[in-house]
Amino acid sequence: MSTVLQATDLTRTYEVKRSVFGAPALVRALNGVSFELTPGKTLAVVGESGCGKSTLARLVTMIEEPSSGFLTIDGRPAVHTDKDLRRTVQIVFQNPYGSLNPRQKVGSILEEPLKINTADNAETRRQKARAMMERVGLRPEHYDRYPHMFSGGQRQRIAIARALMLNPKILVLDEPVSALDLSIQAQVLNLLIDLQAEFGLAYLFISHDLSVVKHIADEVMVMYLGRPVESGPAETVFAAPKHPYTQALLSATPVADPAKKRERVQLEGELPSPLSIPSGCAFHPRCPIAIPKCAKVIPAERLVARRQVACILAE
Ligand code: SF4
Repeated sequence: MSTVLQATDLTRTYEVKRSVFGAPALVRALNGVSFELTPGKTLAVVGESGCGKSTLARLVTMIEEPSSGFLTIDGRPAVHTDKDLRRTVQIVFQNPYGSLNPRQKVGSILEEPLKINTADNAETRRQKARAMMERVGLRPEHYDRYPHMFSGGQRQRIAIARALMLNPKILVLDEPVSALDLSIQAQVLNLLIDLQAEFGLAYLFISHDLSVVKHIADEVMVMYLGRPVESGPAETVFAAPKHPYTQALLSATPVADPAKKRERVQLEGELPSPLSIPSGCAFHPRCPIAIPKCAKVIPAERLVARRQVACILAE
């Protein structure tokens, strides 16, 4: 199937003032990131906060443009000024309460994107909103209620419905279930899987938690300090992670079968600041198997057992 988004060597830097008189420092939030999105498929981007995943979300939603590299969506260069293209990509945030206007009723929250972006009349907008409410599991009487009258899971259903009102091709899901209880997480993930199949949506699913993406991801990209360290088919990466960082993240995730429990890999120290990224492999100060060479050489991504891995020792 053809790709709907192609990202090639994306880099995003920011200038940061460290003191009143000093020269600004350069933060490299994203460094040489390439991937593609395919209709009906999910790419999960996983890493700790500060790994670059939020920057990636801002580039894909065209809120910002890359400092270098190429991003094409639906075959066109992704630029902030291309309003039609921006409709193609919608985002669902972690905290639906923060992203829904508390003074608007559900009906008007859902109809607003149509009001701004289409020539639909009031009756058509109402019909489309009601149809989408039904599709995401909201009841007809919810149309006249305010966001605070709903549970967290229902509010996330409202946010998903609003994101779908303009028939996007890509949904950026930014930690969409992290704020929800485990049982509700499963319901919302199942809804997302159903909607993807029905509308052929491409998902960019951002999470700090590998266990959350396990059942929804087709491809996984694990990131550390702005760079991908392991990317490939989800089942391959989950079955036998090759990068020590992925191994550490996976070892911390719960498993249903105690017989398959992994030995927990403890990472040393904190995630370094993006303002002072360690030399060589940026992971070396925390890596349990680092050798002296790791501090000198930036590992290139290479194919290891059907996935790309940036580690000189991976085999
Ligand atoms: Fe660890 Fe070295 Fe591999 Fe980096 S290159 S992940 S420090 S072994």
